[in-house]
Amino acid sequence: MAETTTTTLKDELIDQAGATPGDRIRVVLPDGTVHEGRLMPTHSFSRPGTLVLKLDNGYNIGLNTPEGTKLDLVAPEPAVSVPERKAPKGDKTLPTVQILGTGGTIASYVDYRTGAVHPAKRAEDLALMVPEVFDIANIRSKVVVEMFSEDMQPTEWQQIAEEVAKAFEAGARGVVIPHGTDTMGYTAAALAFMLPQLPGPVVLVGAQRSSDRPSSDAAMNLKAAVRIAATAHLGEVVVVMHDESDDTRLAIHRGVRVRKMHTSRRDAFRSINHPPLGYLEDDEVLLAAHIRPTTPLSEQKDGKVPRFLAMDEEVSMIQSYPGLWPDHILDVVKKGTILVGTGLGHVARRCLDAIRECTARGAYVVMTSQCLYGRTNMHVYATGRDLIHAGVISGEDMLPETAYVKLMWVLGQTQDPDEVRRNLHTNLVGEMDERTEMTTYLE
Ligand code: GLU
Repeated sequence: MAETTTTTLKDELIDQAGATPGDRIRVVLPDGTVHEGRLMPTHSFSRPGTLVLKLDNGYNIGLNTPEGTKLDLVAPEPAVSVPERKAPKGDKTLPTVQILGTGGTIASYVDYRTGAVHPAKRAEDLALMVPEVFDIANIRSKVVVEMFSEDMQPTEWQQIAEEVAKAFEAGARGVVIPHGTDTMGYTAAALAFMLPQLPGPVVLVGAQRSSDRPSSDAAMNLKAAVRIAATAHLGEVVVVMHDESDDTRLAIHRGVRVRKMHTSRRDAFRSINHPPLGYLEDDEVLLAAHIRPTTPLSEQKDGKVPRFLAMDEEVSMIQSYPGLWPDHILDVVKKGTILVGTGLGHVARRCLDAIRECTARGAYVVMTSQCLYGRTNMHVYATGRDLIHAGVISGEDMLPETAYVKLMWVLGQTQDPDEVRRNLHTNLVGEMDERTEMTTYLE
């Protein structure tokens, strides 16, 4: 993950004093207040401009360093040898779980010597964050990529999917993927389409609060993910996160049905238009009846996990809003687009000609709703009926981002218009339901 690169007054003061993290420094603020302690390193979660000191009483304090602040090096950090953190030897009698690190808040661990938070660059660091996982499973771990999830691209989805398939082929019972929460739903959907027949669970897991904070959900989420990967009879890609804001229960969400619905709450993830697949409470996994079962490797051709990794990136998403410019549609749409329409699936009538032009040149235009809950229905109002006549395809009750990933994936598999349409209208991996009555699931 990229460390912050903005140079602030704090950085200049540190530079001038020749101090490095761990050194003992003295800070004199313009009002004469003096603070002495160890200089803490800057990390991905640091606020730029805030200087963090570890005081002699063990507490860290953050200091703003306005113009006029003085900073002196008192003593360099004494050389200490840090023992190498080694993962315990795997217990082969336990089910094997492969952890595939990708980055994000959950993959950051606290170095208790300095109190600093680091991205886990070594495979061991991921598992060692929560040593209890070694009692649940025979852990194998590997860092696949190390990045914030907003930087992920389809190439990373492909890389992760390939690693998942290889892990099962090498004997894993389940796979855990620690991941940044921002785009975890996109990756989950991509993996679900790329790996439609799985011999075991693929569990994406994240954390809303980093592990240096008392309210961190990282450890509990990771432990739950490992337990589900090690024990659940589940042949699909899921997301596991807190279900409530306290530490009572975790929810198991279907990867193609889940969305991050809050910026910071620990229970930010919600299943949309479909109930969760299950819960984990008191270390017990409770699964619903509507899960996708496993497909053992012995039933697969050559004992391999079938993977369909191709993605066509000439697909976009367009949010409908009052003022949406028809030219924007013409500029953006290449082979296909997901319209994130209002209500039942609408865009302003002034955009109709632009949409017609896109479909006439062969682009696929799929309608979803920014309401998220419920399904699109373009038969109710005249605008909707005109959109249907303009060639717009209903995304039914799919999440916009799932529809986006699906269209990329479908176009990656085939360019045959009939095949593309057939796939778009078919529920492939649980991403949409048959037309439902008004009792549609709503939390
Ligand atoms: N925005 C980053 C990401 O999604 C960090 C936050 C997180 O891990 O949830 O990777």
